[in-house]
Amino acid sequence: MISYLNLYVHESLQLTATHFFFRDSTGITYLVAKAQDESSSQTGVITRQTLLNALDGVSPKRGKAFAEIGVANAGQLLDYFPRAYLYESEEKHINALLPDQVQVVRGEVVAVDYVSTRPRPRFEATIADGSDRLALVFFNGAYLRGKIRPGLIIRVKGAVKVFRNIPQMANPKWEVVAEETERVEESRFRPIYPATADLSTDTIHKIISNNLEAMMPLVHEWFGEDLIKRRSLYSRVDAYRAIHCPKDENQARNARRRLVYDEFMLMQLGLAIGKKMREGRLTAPVLRIDKLLDQRIRKRFPFELTEAQQGAIYEILKDVQAALPMNRLLQGDVGSGKTVVALYAMLVAVANKMQSALLAPTEVLAEQHFLTIQNMLRDTGVRIELFTGRTKRGAKNQLLADLAAGRIHLAIGTQALVQDDIEFANLGLVVVDEQHRLGVNQRAALKSKGLAPHYLVMTATPIPRTLALSYFADFDLSTINHLPPGRQPIKTEWYRSSQAMVAYDFIRTQIKVGRQAYIVVPKVSDDDKSELKSVQAEHDRLSKGVLSGLKLGMLHGQMPAEDKQSIMMQFRNQQIDVLIATTVIEVGIDVPNANVILIDNADRFGLSQLHQLRGRVGRGKEQSHCILLSDAPTESSQERLRAMTETVSGFDIAELDLQLRGPGEFFGTRQHGLPEFKLADMTQELDLLRKAREDALELLAYDPKLLKPEHQYLVKALVEKFGDTILLAQVG
Ligand code: ADP
Ligand code: MG
Repeated sequence: MISYLNLYVHESLQLTATHFFFRDSTGITYLVAKAQDESSSQTGVITRQTLLNALDGVSPKRGKAFAEIGVANAGQLLDYFPRAYLYESEEKHINALLPDQVQVVRGEVVAVDYVSTRPRPRFEATIADGSDRLALVFFNGAYLRGKIRPGLIIRVKGAVKVFRNIPQMANPKWEVVAEETERVEESRFRPIYPATADLSTDTIHKIISNNLEAMMPLVHEWFGEDLIKRRSLYSRVDAYRAIHCPKDENQARNARRRLVYDEFMLMQLGLAIGKKMREGRLTAPVLRIDKLLDQRIRKRFPFELTEAQQGAIYEILKDVQAALPMNRLLQGDVGSGKTVVALYAMLVAVANKMQSALLAPTEVLAEQHFLTIQNMLRDTGVRIELFTGRTKRGAKNQLLADLAAGRIHLAIGTQALVQDDIEFANLGLVVVDEQHRLGVNQRAALKSKGLAPHYLVMTATPIPRTLALSYFADFDLSTINHLPPGRQPIKTEWYRSSQAMVAYDFIRTQIKVGRQAYIVVPKVSDDDKSELKSVQAEHDRLSKGVLSGLKLGMLHGQMPAEDKQSIMMQFRNQQIDVLIATTVIEVGIDVPNANVILIDNADRFGLSQLHQLRGRVGRGKEQSHCILLSDAPTESSQERLRAMTETVSGFDIAELDLQLRGPGEFFGTRQHGLPEFKLADMTQELDLLRKAREDALELLAYDPKLLKPEHQYLVKALVEKFGDTILLAQVG
């Protein structure tokens, strides 16, 4: 977040032990909370930092086993939550068993026998527990021979009948009990902890429950009573007690609900506070627009803007006319026409004598944007330049000088554009294409240069509702929800490899009528012995075989950038009929005349990736086709491919993808920098997440500086989660 170095202490006015005021050089005062070092508290009292070895029942050996599961101190033990619960019935003594009721007893096996007499062969065993003996009979139990052996201690569950004066259970459920397992004296609802070979769930539970009351002083309420009542929440103390030692399922559920709510709240508060700080601290250039400028910009586009595009532009303009930096996410399915919306905004910046930067995730895409935009801006005074890794050094130095002097208005490039040595004269707007591949880090880089430009992120992967409520909560959202006119939905078909000929024939017929096609293979792997076909091998195979006579081209990541660009140019100019490529074409490539994409080994791609690839077609007026070629060896791959054939909605795909893979994976890397949850599952607990979001905003409206005494421990928790010293709220 914001660095502290340029802050100086304005007043060291101590509110509580943990609050301080700071005023920075721009005159804004912040309230800062400082984490109190609890380990310095007096000895004998358990703190969150108290080492595990100091707790009841933790030998050095157990301490080690706990350290292996990431539990080294009392705080971590308290937050080591069960993953499930199990109901266990009380174990009776044999002489106390009541007839005809289902009950549980344990005893040592003292005799076994197998009676093979037809028609009811049976396995018989006798167990004894010191109080009496109990006969067990398992009809058709031949398989139990050797499993239930004399000397074993087993626990059985069933109804007792008295048979020839001896108590007997017929076909009871049974399990072998480990010797150290304690008798269940009372029926109980038992937590199951994530355990290891050295640390059983029983041991974990025993140690937690033995120390639970002693640790309770570490648990503090975060919220005021009103909120807790309104949402019918357990208190935090009750929740901690009940998540570890619930009496029944209901208690366990309520405990979990409260702690999940707290996780959501912490995240939502962190996001909201972060957003407020950004807005309060940064001033962005005010970009003005009038009717004349609007007309001049529109004249540059070769088509009418769709209503959805207009709507997005309207929202963007509202943002950039204010001095707060815009932080907007523009989402629109592949092919929905996001580029011109971004271009519109960039031209507004240029007209306001500010520079714009457009960041693309790949060089190929940066080059394509450059070509498209250059084309639209032909014969204008707008200077637009492409910056990529391969821009030649000499030329590059000149470009950099021009950029720093403000002679370049529109800079297009990859990450290279925001690297350290690059300076802008007056950067007003940054557009980032495809946020989840490029973004957070680059943004931090810009920020560290002290720049506060408006910020527009474009993504074709629609943000699922769950993520819109969380990771992207500090973005304002614009959606392009329909495609430009004249588009037809892409037809998607899934063929087995045995039907591949049909697919290649189809490509031939499309080329014959003037269309073009992509063939995507999973990976370049020249010497790779896996079955993955390399682009080269596929090219050779197809050019000599089923696609002989057609003009084939190749595109993959290992090619020099010049070659890539020239291949793309040839494809655009229809000098290539079929482009055989890796996923380098995944993002953004726009060749409307290409109307077939065949994805080979489609099972090797993730769902969002397949959808992105499919989006390379369906960009012109012709009917487009996506052919998935795969024998789909696994259930999950079948599910993905089926989803592809059944829906063209990027929204549905993204939602499903998130469920299949989880948010960390969804972003490719964990670049979002937000804490993972211990308990919460965003995809399953949407309703609670939504409530927490509402409540977080309400809470900040009611207590913007979090100064109310009831929020004292909430402040501490925020500090712990988001950094050891964190700016929490502005004052005045
Ligand atoms: P994406 O949202 O996937 O980035 P693009 O911006 O690449 O989509 O646009 C996809 C195609 O649609 C391009 O060929 C573009 O020229 C075209 N296009 C965009 N807006 C319109 C429009 N309003 N009318 C017709 N074609 C459009
Ligand atoms: Mg695009």
